[in-house]
Amino acid sequence: MSDYIETPGSIPVVEDCDVFVGGGGIAGVAAALAAARQGARVVLSEKQCVLGGLATSGLVVIYLPLCDGRGRQMSYGIAEELLRLSILHGAQGPVPEAWLEKGREGERSARRFEVQFNPVCFAIEMEQLLLDAGVRIWYDTRICDVAVEGSRIRALIVENQDGRVAVRTKAAVDATGNALLFRKAGESTRRHGRGNTVAGWYYASTQDGLALRMLGFADASEGTERDTQQGPQGRRFWGDNAQEINEYLMLSHRATLEDALGRMEAGQILEPAAMTHMPQYRMTRCLYGETLMTEENDGKPVCGSVGMVGDWRKRGPRFEVPYGALYGSAMENLFAAGRCISADDGMWDVMRVIPACAVTGQAAGTAAALTPQKGRTDLATLQETLRRDGVKLKLEEV
Ligand SMILES: Cc1cc2nc3c(=O)[nH]c(=O)nc-3n(C[C@H](O)[C@H](O)[C@H](O)COP(=O)(O)OP(=O)(O)OC[C@H]3O[C@@H](n4cnc5c(N)ncnc54)[C@H](O)[C@@H]3O)c2cc1C
Repeated sequence: MSDYIETPGSIPVVEDCDVFVGGGGIAGVAAALAAARQGARVVLSEKQCVLGGLATSGLVVIYLPLCDGRGRQMSYGIAEELLRLSILHGAQGPVPEAWLEKGREGERSARRFEVQFNPVCFAIEMEQLLLDAGVRIWYDTRICDVAVEGSRIRALIVENQDGRVAVRTKAAVDATGNALLFRKAGESTRRHGRGNTVAGWYYASTQDGLALRMLGFADASEGTERDTQQGPQGRRFWGDNAQEINEYLMLSHRATLEDALGRMEAGQILEPAAMTHMPQYRMTRCLYGETLMTEENDGKPVCGSVGMVGDWRKRGPRFEVPYGALYGSAMENLFAAGRCISADDGMWDVMRVIPACAVTGQAAGTAAALTPQKGRTDLATLQETLRRDGVKLKLEEV
């Protein structure tokens, strides 16, 4: 194979903004909304044609808990707003009344603050929410590169039907799920240790209505009944090269069809109705940031909290999220949100889920919107703004 020399040329700057958000999953939506509410001009670029990322295109329709499992709500602000929005037109399955309505404190330790939602309604409602906030959404637009000057991101190079164009920005949020912007900017990132098994979630139409088939096991919070199918393949995947992603997708597609056909042959009345449109990797690559979140921080105050999360896997653990997990050592105006923030493998499993992605999304979007001309947004200003916007930051506050 020989190399092809690309013709060098200039890339037109087609838009100026204050905050560029890369990726429109839950983290990107939360970041864009938070930044727009600070008055920033926001552009959000998403390579798919719908918002929500794994939560909608990936059919991961369970909004895991906002609480610690002991009756205390941990995640507030946009994390709660998006949970409520996700079931605006009805939930799939039971709703946590004790949390959604006031005055039933005692019941909150028994039932966690989580819901299952309809991905179509949620995706379209999120789009409307961002449009109402003034966010410019660019669908079908893939981020290819970053233009860096010293310690600042100056522009993002994207590609869509108009070709390769640039968006100039004052600050950016990496909500790509795999730390793409950080990698392109030369920051330190790392891949997940164990990798991922193949998953393939799909909806089937059955005689009892729509059923969610969760091939490859479900992320179920304790005490919740879930279908816990074993993964279709024993092989593990990391999601950071094109060939492996293709192999993963085709195994996932095959497993989906085989599962449906197997059930039909066994006499079940079932027809596959919707499949995932994203590879369902849980953890691929994340930022190796100023601070590495670890499970040792359970129940301890951290330096510079910008939000809090519980642990979806078990009741009890409570974490403050340090500002330093959202940025690297080189770029002053680039912030991480969602499943690519800086955490070790154990903590990554806690931070990658929908509510935690919304928490870091809000913090990153706010920090980006407040970015000064020189240096990084200072912690005190960020904390004061997040508090004003309804986020609780410290363990002693809940
Ligand atoms: C099988 C599985 C089961 C899960 N179960 C649950 C569960 O039950 N409950 C729960 O809360 N969480 C669950 N999770 C985790 C959760 O769904 C995700 O981690 C979370 O939704 C990630 O949000 P995010 O915004 O960080 O990333 P993503 O949802 O991955 O969003 C990133 C977005 O960036 C876009 N993007 C990427 N690269 C580019 C580019 N170059 N240009 C433009 N756009 C780009 C992508 O298209 C995507 O829309 C599960 C995950 C998996 C894989």
